Amino acid sequence: MTASQVINPATEQVIATVEPTGAAAVDAAIERAHRAAAGWREVAPGDRARLLRRFADAVDADLERLAALEVANSGHTLGNARWEAGNVRDLLHFAAGMPERLLGHQIPVAGGVDITFHEPLGVVGVIVPWNFPMPIAGWGFAPALAAGNTVVLKPAELTPLTALRLAELALEAGLPADVLQVLPGSGAVIGARFVTHPAVRKVVFTGSTEVGKQVMAGCAAQVKRVTLELGGKSANIVFADSDLERAAATAPYGVFDNAGQDCCARSRILVQRSVFDRFLELMEPAVRGLRVGDPAAEETEMGPLISAAHRAKVAGYIEPATKVAFTGACPEGPGFWYPPTVVLPDGPQDRLVREEIFGPVVAVLPFEDEAEAIAMANDTEYGLSGSIWTGDVGRALRVSRAVESGNLSVNSHSSVRYWTPFGGFKQSGLGRELGPDAALAFTETKNVFLAS
Ligand code: NAD
Repeated sequence: MTASQVINPATEQVIATVEPTGAAAVDAAIERAHRAAAGWREVAPGDRARLLRRFADAVDADLERLAALEVANSGHTLGNARWEAGNVRDLLHFAAGMPERLLGHQIPVAGGVDITFHEPLGVVGVIVPWNFPMPIAGWGFAPALAAGNTVVLKPAELTPLTALRLAELALEAGLPADVLQVLPGSGAVIGARFVTHPAVRKVVFTGSTEVGKQVMAGCAAQVKRVTLELGGKSANIVFADSDLERAAATAPYGVFDNAGQDCCARSRILVQRSVFDRFLELMEPAVRGLRVGDPAAEETEMGPLISAAHRAKVAGYIEPATKVAFTGACPEGPGFWYPPTVVLPDGPQDRLVREEIFGPVVAVLPFEDEAEAIAMANDTEYGLSGSIWTGDVGRALRVSRAVESGNLSVNSHSSVRYWTPFGGFKQSGLGRELGPDAALAFTETKNVFLAS
């Protein structure tokens, strides 16, 4: 097996080589995880909680190193990378509260006692994309471990470094061997084996809708539990009665964060026609002023795209006939740079409006009234995220109930808090991660009747 090179997308330099896990090693790791699961589920809840807290402390002590690794491997800005490592730390602390709260029920019955247990599944396979390597790994492994499962985790081919470091930190913190294993390498070899290996009882897949469908179909053969976190084409809906200055000034952060490589990116901005031109006027300086460049610099707001191939895909959306309203700046190279780009599509059927571009390109469209805004927001196969800007509380409530999406924010562009549930409607996914019930998704409920 030849080692694969890890590239810094801001410099195009090779920063590491990683040995991909071969098929036999994947099976061996799953079997070790299966054996370890028998012991891990028996660790007393309080002891499991203590180990997760120690893991969180180890992440905290290593935070700057993890952040620097992510900046170098993924081109994330330093500010974002620190937030991402902190997100894993905080989620581990949150998950440490779960083992002692996986409470069953005692249900009244005649002739005995009826009780329920939340039992761990066994081995959980977590498959991670390249766009948020640390948080998405943590969203899978933290609640799965808390519920008493062992985890085999596959980072994306392009971004294995922080996941490998997190596995080292878990061991240093005292988690037993084989409770959390990270297997770098190919999706077709490792991820696909998580789907077919009978000892893996659940797959948590985050990635494209296309591969997610294959994972779901594969899991069906064994009725394997599956959580899917897939693509998005979320709407940022701006009503004329909103604080237009704020909506326009923050709109770039709602879509260009992580260079638009964000499943929650509000890549369609729907603006009420009466304020459409004014909104664009207000948004333009915010886009032109975005600080795009060296991701390791404290002040940088947007880094490069992940690879040359991905940049070519993003660039392919902008055709000679595309109406570009304005763009921001970006460095010349080396590095896989692409400027923040605001386009005026031909209409709702334009592929700029329909497809997940996963880069710093946003389509802005007008709507007439509330009913049309809702219809346009829902005119997509996706349903992950979105924002609603309005000064009218009633409208905020009506529109947020009507938009078919798992995570909405009103007068804000933020999407994710580890203590609130996260997941998609329609083809954006299946199941929920995070939130107070995160550990339950990694258990089976068993009902036992004891005759008296
Ligand atoms: P991808 O689907 O190409 O790959 C995701 C992961 O799946 C990688 O680790 C890959 O190696 C693995 N994989 C590839 N083929 C596989 C197979 N046949 N079986 C099992 N695993 C396989 O996605 P990507 O390009 O890495 O990530 C971008 C996509 O992820 C975007 O569509 C984005 O919206 C989505 N995403 C969704 C969320 C969410 O929470 N909904 C979060 C982040 C990213």
